[in-house]
Amino acid sequence: MRIVDIRETSIPLNSTLANSSFNFSEMTTSVVAVITDVMRAGKPVTGYAFNSTGRYACGAQMRARFIPRILKAKPESLLDDAGLIAPDKCLAAMMQNEKSGGHSERSVGIGTIEVAIWDALAKAVDKPLHVLLAERFNGGKRAEKVFCYVGGGWYAPGKTTRDLQDEMRRHLDAGYTMVKMKVGGMALADDLARVEAVKSILPKGTQLAVDANSKFGRDDALAYARGLAPFALRWFEEPCDPLDNALLAEIAAVYAPPLSTGENLFSTQDVENLVRFGGLRPERNDIIQIDPPQAYGIVQYARTLDMLARHGWPRTALFPHGGNQMSLAIAAGFGLGGAESYPGVFGDFGGFADDAFMTEGHVSLSDRPGIGFEGQARLYKIMRELAG
Ligand code: MG
Repeated sequence: MRIVDIRETSIPLNSTLANSSFNFSEMTTSVVAVITDVMRAGKPVTGYAFNSTGRYACGAQMRARFIPRILKAKPESLLDDAGLIAPDKCLAAMMQNEKSGGHSERSVGIGTIEVAIWDALAKAVDKPLHVLLAERFNGGKRAEKVFCYVGGGWYAPGKTTRDLQDEMRRHLDAGYTMVKMKVGGMALADDLARVEAVKSILPKGTQLAVDANSKFGRDDALAYARGLAPFALRWFEEPCDPLDNALLAEIAAVYAPPLSTGENLFSTQDVENLVRFGGLRPERNDIIQIDPPQAYGIVQYARTLDMLARHGWPRTALFPHGGNQMSLAIAAGFGLGGAESYPGVFGDFGGFADDAFMTEGHVSLSDRPGIGFEGQARLYKIMRELAG
């Protein structure tokens, strides 16, 4: 098996959404195609990925460094003993001549290419990616479905509290049992009224989380922690800067319910610092939300899980950020706590396969080889055009 070409392009997300900290009007993503010499039905097996949501396209670094390093490597140096592409060797090739630290400048580009390589590899062995990952990283335990919650409750121009309640009702009607909403975009009293309004329509047995998108400094974070504590939320996400472990530990000391963070950490070392110094505890059901394509990809994600296990963190504490089929396959394959979903937002890049269905808070998995983008018609059209 050989990688014969890697192509990338930048696509706008065309989203009108906003969280407490920024809007998505300028947001782009890099779509990557990894073309191999393995043929199926007269066409080369091609792996695809995109760099999830919330980080801009990063084609310049891919074109200048990561793609040439793979294409220049001796093809046999990128293979495993079975003659298949070895993602860990591709990761090492992309990391040549890279200085330590400063991760996000390269982790997103490298991770996106690495996930596309996994898609190609799974297709080459004719297995869904979640099955291949279960075989390699989870004792072969094949998942049938994955717990999935809605990352919703966005701020939008003219959106009222009634609109927010209607949005949450739609998610419940669609089969979700856990929803999440944004906080931090209004005054504390107004935000707490929004949380109370959503809480008031949630049936027994359903859960609510909130996401502050790193908006708060110390005073606001502690005020929100005090205000939110009575609502018994599933979690309070990103209450402060993602790298301010001292403040997070301070919040964790006064806020008893679960916290969550990690979607803006891009290296194993950053995550290790989080669990060493951020005050988070697995016993309290705190959650870690690394986004694998943005954090060097799947091989590095497995290394991060090993590190977390050494610190006493079970895989069920991991909910990968992203709301897409990449994170879903990873959650299923590694046996994680669950996945996020963004139904109806982020245009062609949000959501799962067109035939995926929700039942009692769990989403079905695809039997298609690879990640399963072929089952997501509008997104696959963009990917297919890139492969040519
Ligand atoms: Mg978030």
